[in-house]
Amino acid sequence: MKNFLIIALIVIAAYFAMVYTAPDKSATKSPAGNEKTTLTTTEEVTKTTDTNKGKTSKDDSTNIFFGDYNTPYGIPPFDKIKDSDFMPAIKWGIKNHLAEIDQITANKEPATFANTIEALEWSGADLTKVTSVFFNLTSANTNATLRKLQAEIGPMLSSHFDDINLNQKLFERVKTVYEHKNQLNLRVDQQKLLEDSYKSFIRGGANLTAEDKQTLRTLNKTISKLSIKFDDNLRAETNDYELVIDKKEDLAGLPEDIITAAAETAKKRGHEDKWVFTTHRISKTPFLTYSTNRDLKRKLFYAYTHRGDNGNAHDNNQVAAEIVSLRNKKAHLLGYKSHADYVLEERNAKSPENVFKLLNKVWKPTIARAKQEVADIQAMIDSEGGNFTVEASDWRYYSEKIRKARYDFDEAETRPYFSLDATLEGVFYTANRLFGLTFKERHDLPKYHEDVRTFEVYDNGKLIGIYLTDHFVRPAKRGGAWMNSYRKQSRKDGKNVLPIVVNVLNFPKPVGDEPALLTFDQASTLFHEFGHALHGLLSDGIYRSQTGTSVPRDYVEFPSQVMEYWFSQPEVLKHFARHYKTGEVIPDSLLKKINKASKFNQGFSTGEYMAAAYLDMAWYAQPDEAILDAHSFEKQAMDKIGLIPQIYPRYRTTYFRHIFAGGYSAGYYSYLWTDVLAADAFEAFKEKGIFDAETAAKFKKYIFSSGGTDDSMTLYRKFRGKDPEIGPLLRSRGLIDSK
Ligand SMILES: [Zn+2]
Repeated sequence: MKNFLIIALIVIAAYFAMVYTAPDKSATKSPAGNEKTTLTTTEEVTKTTDTNKGKTSKDDSTNIFFGDYNTPYGIPPFDKIKDSDFMPAIKWGIKNHLAEIDQITANKEPATFANTIEALEWSGADLTKVTSVFFNLTSANTNATLRKLQAEIGPMLSSHFDDINLNQKLFERVKTVYEHKNQLNLRVDQQKLLEDSYKSFIRGGANLTAEDKQTLRTLNKTISKLSIKFDDNLRAETNDYELVIDKKEDLAGLPEDIITAAAETAKKRGHEDKWVFTTHRISKTPFLTYSTNRDLKRKLFYAYTHRGDNGNAHDNNQVAAEIVSLRNKKAHLLGYKSHADYVLEERNAKSPENVFKLLNKVWKPTIARAKQEVADIQAMIDSEGGNFTVEASDWRYYSEKIRKARYDFDEAETRPYFSLDATLEGVFYTANRLFGLTFKERHDLPKYHEDVRTFEVYDNGKLIGIYLTDHFVRPAKRGGAWMNSYRKQSRKDGKNVLPIVVNVLNFPKPVGDEPALLTFDQASTLFHEFGHALHGLLSDGIYRSQTGTSVPRDYVEFPSQVMEYWFSQPEVLKHFARHYKTGEVIPDSLLKKINKASKFNQGFSTGEYMAAAYLDMAWYAQPDEAILDAHSFEKQAMDKIGLIPQIYPRYRTTYFRHIFAGGYSAGYYSYLWTDVLAADAFEAFKEKGIFDAETAAKFKKYIFSSGGTDDSMTLYRKFRGKDPEIGPLLRSRGLIDSK
């Protein structure tokens, strides 16, 4: 069963960068510990000249970052950090980092693994110390000052890491070690560190001629500017549109809380006594789901699906096409066939062909299911005497109606069983049964907001890390749900550094004495994010760039997606899902309903996700350097897969932020890729019991503790004893019949 899984997956897809920490590669290649790396790759951020580089503020003594924290476990002393500390501290970190790099290159000794590769790996610790706090806070608890700083610090860091990547002397030393790799008798993780270091220099352009290096810098700069433009256009288009309703009858079908929210939106936008709906997901989705007014739904749907595609000053067609063209130029410069070839070389998928192979396998049953769903909707329209053909803007309304009629499943029925506290107990219970973990809350440690809770995490009695939670929505937090690290686990000179990880979510804050009650999806998301947190907490490696979630993008969602399977198990649900008032365990009748409804509407939700994944690959797997016509390109790509008119790709070109202004170019397929692993991995537990000790021990060792210390598919096979298969995924989504 697992529609929840899919729902959550799609939700997650929507939040992309927010949902998980970026694999932070290496401190030398990206702003380490910085989730922002998912948004813009280091080499593509506009460079600016920073004349103050290296200078520190006059009043150094009060800057908290310059000394030791002197807090329990080295938790950042949030109460003592001032916004004005960041800029001088980051300059200080950059200066120290460059000094460390200079030390490596000035070494008169021949290059060795220790004096070059390891030295490079451990360099930049001061900078990481500051950036990890900075980027965590700019996501979870920002303000105008931090936002302004962010715009300055992003390019500064990118410029800094570019300088390291294109440092010829440094590269020569790395290359020397690399060329002797077979004589060095290195451990597996060391071999990988060496390979990854070397490759990242090559992929960053270290082997190019001086002239080509310059071309590359220019390309990066232009791509970065265009990405920012794409984002600005999209933000403007999303914010500008409003559907103003002034007649009460046009609100027919909408739930009361949605109407109230629309009235508030109207007020804020200066429309007294009216209602406003926007193209923000939180506004447009309920309207499309509940409104009975087809014309208005069509209008709002059109606005949503034409963001950046209105032929005005904010049109993104040309911008997107230009980004693709420039990325292909860059790929060609570096010796790759296309941008996708360049990107995928570093992923488990390895090549565009392998991505298409997976997509094609899932697409056939998906589109067949979608066509069946269209027929079901049409039948309902006809039975109501509707006398029209179902359109894309009708889908949500009718699928919701069918769901209710068929499964009698209402979210209001489940929420009382999923209080936040109970659900949190559920994730802790799962971690305990699987991995022997226990969680002890501390109330005396520094926090950046009163909503933050702090837990010591013990593995069979031994302290292994610190877990922070920050569950409630507030304006200073960006949307979505994610995990990040304040400090990653590492072990330098045998000294183990405990990880400090955080889960940030956006659940509605309860009022009065009522507890926070979660929807089924929200509860599932809590398990998902907790999976990322476990990946960070159970980490057991040496090098910071390899521990925790520092794994390929088409692997990083695996530990989180797989946790959703435990969430949906009756054995787990019956342990924690208790009515917040009566304490009654969730009844079997409700579990049955949930289970039955779980595979409903999968043709649509998997279909719209996959159409976007195809669109991403269509753009980036083709090698053209010319600027293509985005309209006809998209149409051709969608015609090629036989997309039906009732389904639009989840993101059309002009608002596909992930792939034009985020870090997901040639990567949107990743969610499906990791879900194959998640479904296949859970199959191992289904065979032997969901808490089978032997399976769980392997799971812990090879999946949750190993991070990026070895090739991720090698680790997967060590856990599973075989390659993953796609059958479990198709069955879990109900796309083929269950065994
Ligand atoms: Zn995730």
